[in-house]
Amino acid sequence: MRKEVISVLREEGRILTAYQILRRLRAKLGRPIAPTSIYRCLTDLIERGLVMRVESLNAYVAAGDMASVSDRFLLVCKGCGETRSLLDGEVKARLQTDADRIGFTIDRSVLELLGTCRSCQNETEPRLLGAGTGA
Ligand SMILES: [Zn+2]
Repeated sequence: MRKEVISVLREEGRILTAYQILRRLRAKLGRPIAPTSIYRCLTDLIERGLVMRVESLNAYVAAGDMASVSDRFLLVCKGCGETRSLLDGEVKARLQTDADRIGFTIDRSVLELLGTCRSCQNETEPRLLGAGTGA
């Protein structure tokens, strides 16, 4: 099942919720699948570094070249779900320094930036102009 889950995420190339994965797998395999087995697979794939959880959207994405995510920011498009990563050790080090200064121990950090990708930016503008009924 793991293989099927990762292949759905890779084919999609963007974020999917567990239920979207479930629906695609049911359609693909033509048989019922329990949500719990999807969650088990996702947990396992995350541990292996093959899948990442986008916490702020409660969704998942194939890790691809985004492996070793600890020093990275995830950039997630709210329009199409495309997910990319930025490596930024400097910002992370700065946050660590600030946390140290106030005596705060960081156990884990989630660095996710939600926004709009270039392709969605280019897409929405003409559509909005085209709809132009003049509000
Ligand atoms: Zn987009």
